[in-house]
Amino acid sequence: MAEFSFELDDEQKAVRDWIHGFAADVMRPAAAEWDEREETPWPIIQEAAKIGLYSLDFYAQQYFDPTGLGIPMAMEELFWGDAGIALSIVGTGLAAVGVLANGTEEQIGTWVPQMYGDANDVKVAAFCSSEPDAGSDVASMRTRAVYDEAKDEWVLNGTKTWATNGGIANVHVVVAVVDPGLGSKGHASFIIPPGTPGLSQGQKFKKHGIRASHTAEVVLDGVRVPGHCLLGGKEKLDERLARARERAKEGGERLKNAAMATFEASRPAVGAMAVGTARAAYEVALDYARTRQQFGRPIIDNQGIAFQLSDMRTRIDAARLLVWRASWMAVSGKPFDSAEGSMSKLFASETAKEVTAQAVQILGGNGFTREYPVERMHRDAAIYTIFEGTSEIQRLVIARTLSGMPIR
Ligand SMILES: Cc1cc2nc3c(=O)[nH]c(=O)nc-3n(C[C@H](O)[C@H](O)[C@H](O)COP(=O)(O)OP(=O)(O)OC[C@H]3O[C@@H](n4cnc5c(N)ncnc54)[C@H](O)[C@@H]3O)c2cc1C
Repeated sequence: MAEFSFELDDEQKAVRDWIHGFAADVMRPAAAEWDEREETPWPIIQEAAKIGLYSLDFYAQQYFDPTGLGIPMAMEELFWGDAGIALSIVGTGLAAVGVLANGTEEQIGTWVPQMYGDANDVKVAAFCSSEPDAGSDVASMRTRAVYDEAKDEWVLNGTKTWATNGGIANVHVVVAVVDPGLGSKGHASFIIPPGTPGLSQGQKFKKHGIRASHTAEVVLDGVRVPGHCLLGGKEKLDERLARARERAKEGGERLKNAAMATFEASRPAVGAMAVGTARAAYEVALDYARTRQQFGRPIIDNQGIAFQLSDMRTRIDAARLLVWRASWMAVSGKPFDSAEGSMSKLFASETAKEVTAQAVQILGGNGFTREYPVERMHRDAAIYTIFEGTSEIQRLVIARTLSGMPIR
């Protein structure tokens, strides 16, 4: 097991600086333009692919970093550059993790490369779980997958919503109900290969923030996929469902809590994104406060401003420490006995919202305009308390974990 350290090693520092260079030189200057265009920044993704930053190799390297800090460090730097563009870059990774976590070696080898394409022809992937009536309440998902044994095909019907890269993805990973009696344990994930008939993009959403990231509905109308598109395979699914049915008989609540625990390991990554946005806004605000003169002196000369900046930085560092702790726990196989993953996401996302709002205030009228980046960062930060489980759901998970009670 790797020892915990607050210090990144030389290799990690080199990777961090390399990502930071791309974030500062390529992403940050393009951020305002793609935010206004509200389109996927394909040329930036392509530039990232050319240097190897948008690739399975890079993602896997960070994912398998034995200290656990590879992903949070990469996320922080990319989202420091720009949240919308960064989500366009890492959205594919979120779908890839779905395959890496549940797929067979063959499925990983076949589908994950197709999610990324290559530097001359970049592709993206989408992970589609949320539905119009199943957001926080994942168990009420309605998209059905029915097995057609005669043809060894799965038939999927339903509507997914809020899918990052939904409809523009080369490969979609879709979560669907295979056994309605088992709640979230009766779900399975499917690969929808490129060009599969019956899958179409519904509404594309016009958003408050992260506008360079494409978010849309995905409609599945009689989508047929071969049996080998079920992630993990049929045998494993049948075994898992049989186990779940047994456990459901023993006690449904245990089943529910077990399902929630699986998110603990992925939530710190979202916390790290929030830390990146918060840090970006704080740095702009610090710079501004040192140079902006009012009443014949820099505004940071007022304790009212200086103390705000002190609190902003303190919260950001505290958020990063929670994120790093949870990431280290995940890679070390430590049990999340106090929902430490959810804690990190909760604290970091609330920090990003608060810190970006303070940054707008410190920049005064300029903070309220699109001439300065904090206005965009403040809009972007609002997503962190919503996706990958809202702040209320994080609190629910933490409270249930701490108390051992089915708090509602
Ligand atoms: C930009 C964006 C990108 C996204 N990307 C993806 C993606 O790629 N793939 C995907 O599958 N999903 C994605 N999502 C969906 C996202 O995960 C959901 O929006 C989120 O889970 C919340 O679900 P909801 O929007 O239906 O809100 P709801 O669940 O309807 O919640 C509404 C409000 O009620 C509160 N609430 C709900 N239940 C409780 C409770 N029990 N106790 C207290 N409060 C409660 C919530 O906290 C929230 O404040 C994305 C969303 C956005 C906005």
